[in-house]
Amino acid sequence: MSELDPARFGETFLPSDQLPPAVHPKVLRDELAAAAQWVADYLNELPAGPVARPMPAKQRARLREGRLDRQAGGLGRVLDFVRDEIAPFPTGNGHPAFFAWVNSPPAPAGVIAELLAGAVNATCGMGENALMDLERGTVRMLAGLAGLPDGTGGVLASGGSMANLLALATARTWFLTLRGSGDGPAYDRDHARLTLYYSARAHMSVAKAASCIGLPAHRLRPIATDAHDRLDPAALRAAVAADLDAGLLPFCTVSTLGTTATGAVDPLEPVTQLCRKVGMWHHADGAWGGLGAAVPALAPLYRGVGDLDSMTVDPHKTLSVPVGCGALLLPDPEHLHTAFAHQASYLAATEPDALPWLSHATIELTRPGTRALALWATLQHLGRDGVTGLIEHYLGLADQLRDRISAEPRLELLAGGPWPVACFRITEPDVGDPNALHTRIARRVQDGGRAYLATVAVRGRTVLRACLCNYRTTTDDLDLLVREVLHAADADTATDRRPPSAGPEADSGSPTSR
Ligand SMILES: *Cc1c(COP(=O)(O)O)cnc(C)c1O
Repeated sequence: MSELDPARFGETFLPSDQLPPAVHPKVLRDELAAAAQWVADYLNELPAGPVARPMPAKQRARLREGRLDRQAGGLGRVLDFVRDEIAPFPTGNGHPAFFAWVNSPPAPAGVIAELLAGAVNATCGMGENALMDLERGTVRMLAGLAGLPDGTGGVLASGGSMANLLALATARTWFLTLRGSGDGPAYDRDHARLTLYYSARAHMSVAKAASCIGLPAHRLRPIATDAHDRLDPAALRAAVAADLDAGLLPFCTVSTLGTTATGAVDPLEPVTQLCRKVGMWHHADGAWGGLGAAVPALAPLYRGVGDLDSMTVDPHKTLSVPVGCGALLLPDPEHLHTAFAHQASYLAATEPDALPWLSHATIELTRPGTRALALWATLQHLGRDGVTGLIEHYLGLADQLRDRISAEPRLELLAGGPWPVACFRITEPDVGDPNALHTRIARRVQDGGRAYLATVAVRGRTVLRACLCNYRTTTDDLDLLVREVLHAADADTATDRRPPSAGPEADSGSPTSR
């Protein structure tokens, strides 16, 4: 490039042997530097702005329109576009007063890694490349944190939903292979009799994954939970026994480590015992709470974790790896290869001692290296102690929030824990439909722009739910949240007491009535 004078070569003036999307190296350097500067400022200034803001309909329509100009656009337009059209309207999860879902802000190390991995652009499904080996290594790091045995392997996926799908597909193949169902009429007969068990508080992605692998709804068994939202092993045993009596084939039970609504951890040992006895696979959905064994205070709840057949973990939840980074971990990764190995003439390892490519362990062929590098970067920046410390920080914040709620006479704590979440309600009597009231309160808090939380159904009631998974959240944000909820309740009451002409509308619980 030395024969080029950077000052004379703009991005539209490429060397004659290059075509767009290539750009002149100096142009690229300048744009990357501008983008990096913007990213640093954006992340720094984010807490000072509103958590979320309503998006003007015109702007929304422009994004959805999907019009592509004939003429090439400038490289600088990318940053302008993100700054003006995208960044002002995020989900809100970068902000320390965002409590709505288990969506964390990105760890800075992960942000840097995603840019770098994009440049390397490895295909982590085939061939040999460093990022594919790093993916194998990061999976082992997660396994170590989760308390799974040496030799555990697995794959990274876009998130917990995909990891749960991979798990159920693997369990199904394992079960039918062991049974010798083959590939003919016996397979059809056996497949039609497969039954799946999971706690009634399991994430919806479990039932969705079951549907994706071809299980009809009438073969799914949501199992009753106890007063703390944990799967009841006796109810599980009864359901499995009844299905066996009916000639069905129980093939897998999914436990949840950190239920989405209230953060409960299912008991693992009695479930594994039953699985071993009747020949079922035991998968744990630890998308949120899979790494609890790394935290001394939680470790007793994770006894038996090493005996699981598979576990889902979502590093984009508690670890703040940028979305989407999920993982499926298996003490015996050979089961993944049985489920997903493929043959194609143009895809064959040439090195005699090569490990199976990762495309043999998942559904995807071409796979991004951003997941592995962002996960590695985040983990190495935290260190093992940092991971424990981060989770302990969230647990501590959740304790403090639950204490504040319990101490506030107008609020009632209904559930939450051991994972860092608080589910609560307003105690005010005579509020009409309490479920609609809490939907309106959440909406009011969101619209206020200072804090953000959402509702969830707990035992048939709509309640407010605050999750703690932002490393920038402080106790001031907890105070702010409680204040915002009480203000929203006051504003709602004031609306309720408007003169009769406006009354019926307010009583109808329209989320837009103010
Ligand atoms: C979030 C979550 C999922 C889904 O994970 P995604 O990464 O959002 O696909 C699955 N199970 C549990 C328990 C979760 O909390």
